[in-house]
Amino acid sequence: MKAVKGTRDILPPSSAVWNHVEAVAREVFRTFNYREIRTPIFEETALFARGVGEDTDIVGKEMYTWQDRDGTSLTLRPEATASVMRAFIEHRLDQIPGVKKYYYMGPMFRRERPQKGRYRQFFQIGAEAIGSESPVVDAEVIEMVVEILKRSGLEGFRLILNSVGDANCRPQYMAALKERLAGVASQMCADCQRRAVTNPLRVLDCKIPEDQAIIDTLPSILDHLCAGCHEHFRVVQDHLHGRGIPFEVRPRLVRGLDYYMRTTFEITHGALGAQNSVLGGGRYDGLAESLGSRVPAPGIGFSIGEDRLVMSVEDARQGEAQPTVDVFLAPMGEAAEQQAGEIAAELRAAGISVERSVDRKLKRALETANKTGARFALILGDNEIAAGTYLVKDMASGEQTSLSREALAAHIRKN
Ligand SMILES: [Zn+2]
Ligand SMILES: [Zn+2]
Repeated sequence: MKAVKGTRDILPPSSAVWNHVEAVAREVFRTFNYREIRTPIFEETALFARGVGEDTDIVGKEMYTWQDRDGTSLTLRPEATASVMRAFIEHRLDQIPGVKKYYYMGPMFRRERPQKGRYRQFFQIGAEAIGSESPVVDAEVIEMVVEILKRSGLEGFRLILNSVGDANCRPQYMAALKERLAGVASQMCADCQRRAVTNPLRVLDCKIPEDQAIIDTLPSILDHLCAGCHEHFRVVQDHLHGRGIPFEVRPRLVRGLDYYMRTTFEITHGALGAQNSVLGGGRYDGLAESLGSRVPAPGIGFSIGEDRLVMSVEDARQGEAQPTVDVFLAPMGEAAEQQAGEIAAELRAAGISVERSVDRKLKRALETANKTGARFALILGDNEIAAGTYLVKDMASGEQTSLSREALAAHIRKN
């Protein structure tokens, strides 16, 4: 049997890179005072239909949806923002004072066409800051995500920034866009022709090379921002300049999800080819209301595609030393095996990683020690037990040292 198409097993040593990225993210989240939220992996289908948008590819053709035994329609989460907002509303988290800051990490599910770096079960690390419209929050969220990427070991990434306006100014822009598209849509791809009518903003997203020249001539959202959105966007940029974070404004950057407003951003990385976005994020001031909240809960968030981040970091970390076993214990005989168990427990309690031989032949045990990449081999025979001193072999230099049991941990730690 094989793993289902679009899913995969994450094996060592690659899993160590996953752990590294997650540990870095948790540490950065902590210093920005974000706390973890864990929501269920499946929810009622209606949540995603409303929160992600009926008209998106995600809801239209990529969700794993089934009917539960009681007839309820359930869906594996295709993203986490809608779930976080559902939890926020359900538990009345709006009553907590200040900006509410949550992070999450875990698997999401979309039935996409599998390709390099894209999976049907994929992992996201994300965060949401809820309860403020302030552009200062936007800049800080971006600063935080840049910090996560840097500390993860990703180099040479680019931050792309845009504002998509709000309910006040976007309708005028949409009207201008629609009007222009009416004249040129017939020369564009089938998707664009459909979107020109249903969701013109998404035409800007089209990746078809032949359509790019036309898209470049379409009106820019930045020429249509109202005074409030314009000022909001200016402050976000000012703060990023202040933090020394380079970015590029790209008016074509619109997100596929309906609830995004004002600030929207993306980080791309060269190593990923055409599918080069490591993360996307943005402000979603209307989401809570569209999920039935009576209290407005403006927020901003992002989600990092962990699969793609790990892939890029792995490329950058090629050739770095793999974590190894500190000590390989080779007991010769039954009495020695008993004592090997005690010594292993003592060393592990001192923070040393220990692997035990299950082979009683010394030569074969040492061969295994070599293959596991252990730094030291500790040979335990009847003579060693009787004398109370142990032979520790440095596997790199071949040097052997005779040590008392009490001196073992210190010797291994200092070398
Ligand atoms: Zn197109
Ligand atoms: Zn506006």
